[in-house]
Amino acid sequence: MLLPTPAGLYCPPADIHIDPVRPVARALITHGHSDHARAGHGAVLATRETLAIMALRYGEGFTGSQQVAVPGEAIRIGEVEFTFVPAGHVLGSAQIVVESRGLRIVASGDYKRERDPTCAGFEPMPCDIFITEATFGLPVFRHPSAAGEVAKLLESVRLFPERTHIVGAYSLGKAQRVMALIREAGYNRPIYIHGAVEKITAFYEAEGIPLGEIRLVAETDRKTLGGEIVICPPSAAQDLWARRFPDPVTAFASGWMRIRARARQKGVELPLVISDHADWDDLLATIKEVQAGEIWVTHGEADALVHWCGTAGLKARPLHLVGYGDEGEADPVEEAADAAAV
Ligand SMILES: [Zn+2]
Ligand SMILES: [Zn+2]
Repeated sequence: MLLPTPAGLYCPPADIHIDPVRPVARALITHGHSDHARAGHGAVLATRETLAIMALRYGEGFTGSQQVAVPGEAIRIGEVEFTFVPAGHVLGSAQIVVESRGLRIVASGDYKRERDPTCAGFEPMPCDIFITEATFGLPVFRHPSAAGEVAKLLESVRLFPERTHIVGAYSLGKAQRVMALIREAGYNRPIYIHGAVEKITAFYEAEGIPLGEIRLVAETDRKTLGGEIVICPPSAAQDLWARRFPDPVTAFASGWMRIRARARQKGVELPLVISDHADWDDLLATIKEVQAGEIWVTHGEADALVHWCGTAGLKARPLHLVGYGDEGEADPVEEAADAAAV
C-alpha cells in the first residue's frame, strides 16, 4: 500500500506520493517546510494552511491543481482512504492516515508533542504501521520546556538592557512560535523581525494567532534597538547583518542547541533548546501510544530508534529516504529561500 521510492513514499493503488522530493503527478503534502513541500507537482492535496504557505513561498502557480484536505475528513482515491490529522509541528501540519482493506498506516511527517500556541496539537492515531521521523532520535536529545527557554531569553534581556538580542529561528513555524511564547511570558514591547520572516508571520497573524506588535528591522534605525528582541533566520544571525546592532547577543532557537559544542561552534552566546520535533522520550512515547506492530523510520537518526524498537519487541526498519534534511532545524534549501526573500 505504501513503499519507499527515490521520489518519496508512494502508494501504488492510489498513484500518489507523500511529500515527494521530485515533481510527481499527484502529491499529498504533510506541511509547508521546504524539504517536504516542493513546487512543480501536477496536483497537490494538503491542508488549507499548507496550500497557502506553499503559495506564499513559491507563488500561486506552485502546482497544476490543488485540493484542500479538511483535518479528520477521509478522502477516497481509488480504493484507498486518506485522512489528514494534526501533527503539532507547524501551522497546518498534518499526519496522513492511509487506510485500505482493514490495514491502517500513519505517515507522521514531522511532529512534536510539546504544546505549541501556534498550531493544533498532535493527535495520536492507533495504527498497524507507524511511519515516524527521527530528527532527534538519540537519547541525548531531551528537550526542556520551550517556555523555560524563552524565560532565559527574557532574563538576558532584563540583565543586558543595552544589548540587542538577536534570535535565530527558522522562518516557518519556529519564529512565530518563539514570538507567541515571548507574548505568553508577558513581554509587551514590539518585537523586531528580519524581512525573511515577514510573509509567514503576517500569515500566522491573519490566521488568528496573536503575536503582538511586530516591526520590521528594515524600517527601523538599528542604533535604537539596544535592549530589544530581533527575530531573524539562522543564516542572518550568523552573518554580518547581525553585527550591526548595539552590542548584539546572539541566540539560536533549535533542538540542536542541546549540543553545547554545536552552539559554541556557531558562535551562539545564548543557546535556546526549542524544537518543533519530538525529542527521544516523545518519539518512544508516541510509538507506544499508537500501538503499531511495525515502525518505519523516514529520516533523521534512524539507527538508534530502530534498535530501541527491536528491544521493545516491535518490528522496525529505516526507510533511508533521501532529501529530508529538516528545514525546521538545519537546511540549506531554507537558507537559500531566506536569502532570496530578502
Ligand atoms: Zn518540518
Ligand atoms: Zn522534515
